[in-house]
Amino acid sequence: MRASDLDPTGEHHGGLPTYPWRWAPSPDLMTRRQLRKAGLRPGGQAPCAQVVCRNGARFGYLYRRSLALPVRPMTPARWQAHQRMMLARRTCVLCRTVGEYCIPKSIGCCLDCADGLALAELEQLLQLATTAAA
Ligand SMILES: [Zn+2]
Repeated sequence: MRASDLDPTGEHHGGLPTYPWRWAPSPDLMTRRQLRKAGLRPGGQAPCAQVVCRNGARFGYLYRRSLALPVRPMTPARWQAHQRMMLARRTCVLCRTVGEYCIPKSIGCCLDCADGLALAELEQLLQLATTAAA
């Protein structure tokens, strides 16, 4: 571990208490993955600390197990809502084609539509398509 990674007050990490990997001070502090293994989810709580992994290359947020909520079971209705959301994300607003991939937010339409259009034209078309839909 590096001494600089031990920062329990968060003084050097924007106020977030920071510990080297495996140095978290309490079994109540768990990563998202550890919570998931226990059948729990953070449930909206903000991370209260973080661990440093791979010599500072990665950070992992820690959450309080005592504030965690049980993972919600997947119901048919939730699954349907998820499918609809994914369908919307794959549908191009310009040509209505449903693609194999999610429409990149940076472009806003499918790659075929974006291809060959100047940026200004593209912005105008997207403006029209989104105001018409609203
Ligand atoms: Zn398109």
